[in-house]
Amino acid sequence: MARIFAFILHKGGVVDDSAAELPVAAKKIDAAQSPTAIVTGWGADLDAVCETLRATYSEVWKIANESLDYPNAELVRKALVSVLPKDSILLVPHSHFGVDLSPGLSIKMNAAFVSDVLDIEGLDGASLKLVRQEFGGQVSTHVRCDISSSAVINIRPGAFAEKVGHALACPEADSQLVDKSSEVGPLSAGRRYLETVVAETGDVDITKHPVLVSIGRGIQDPENVHIAQELADALGGAVSCSRPVVDAKWLEKSRQVGSSGKTVRPKVYLACGISGSFQHLAGIKGNPLMVAINKNPKAPIFRVADVGIVADILEFLPELTNRVQEEKCLPMSERSRS
Ligand SMILES: Cc1cc2nc3c(=O)[nH]c(=O)nc-3n(C[C@H](O)[C@H](O)[C@H](O)COP(=O)(O)OP(=O)(O)OC[C@H]3O[C@@H](n4cnc5c(N)ncnc54)[C@H](O)[C@@H]3O)c2cc1C
Repeated sequence: MARIFAFILHKGGVVDDSAAELPVAAKKIDAAQSPTAIVTGWGADLDAVCETLRATYSEVWKIANESLDYPNAELVRKALVSVLPKDSILLVPHSHFGVDLSPGLSIKMNAAFVSDVLDIEGLDGASLKLVRQEFGGQVSTHVRCDISSSAVINIRPGAFAEKVGHALACPEADSQLVDKSSEVGPLSAGRRYLETVVAETGDVDITKHPVLVSIGRGIQDPENVHIAQELADALGGAVSCSRPVVDAKWLEKSRQVGSSGKTVRPKVYLACGISGSFQHLAGIKGNPLMVAINKNPKAPIFRVADVGIVADILEFLPELTNRVQEEKCLPMSERSRS
């Protein structure tokens, strides 16, 4: 069996949540192996990331290079090819950067490539059985990937999150930090990092609110947005939304949750008339209490919701707002009885 590596995403010295999921995926490929974390970057941020990783990974490979300070996929590809052994299975989060990095990397490594993997069903000889989704999540495809030599496998963030608690933590003292920087020669790329332009926060910063009432296409008309706002006001939260609501110009872009919108970490997330596409769910982190309200009992959002309510949001949200307001008017001692 080839050696398994986990490519680590990080920003500002903080390790991405996906780093905790990759060992879970690795164990489903080979329960006997502990994957090796491989991390690129520069300076104090990279050092902080390596220290954090030592609590989860028994071995951490660090590639420090000034040109890797900003994660340019062209450069990272060259750096990884310099250090990865001939037979390697590299797990990469299926994020924007992972999608940029992986296809070209698999060609350079002469490796098999599977993107957006949701589940790993195990080995069948030299073939790994994997589950992917296609057509916006409407069908699951089962594929086999030859891992007798090398493979690059993109793991969808969140797909293995439930089992993170069961992954083996590594006592920091036992974890090895291996500096591979000297094995990487001079790096150059056709594209160059110029600057980072931070998106405008807008009138409301949805990343700061512990309660989000999030609306999707199910809100149907801009005239109906106020019912979500009233519920958010009653709950002391803010209104966020899915992408079609922004595309229709019913709310500003700064309210969009998802892979091409904001990443939020609320305590409570009410998904109202939202189907539950992976692009939307990718923006919800921190495992909030997820309440889904949708009139279609088969909507995919119910698969990830803690509380599922099959209802028409145009009727249910005003009713819920009334109940919350009534509850707030009651003396503390009587609130839980209503
Ligand atoms: C590259 C790319 C990036 C993307 N980035 C994002 C992103 O960042 N964020 C994002 O959200 N999407 C993103 N998308 C779009 C994503 O694929 C989905 O199309 C989108 O999330 C669907 O939004 P929705 O759930 O509001 O709409 P739909 O999928 O149309 O779902 C509407 C839901 O509302 C329900 N409904 C309808 N009427 C009612 C009612 N009266 N009461 C209750 N329920 C009702 C329906 O049953 C349905 O489940 C991206 C897509 C691509 C290709």
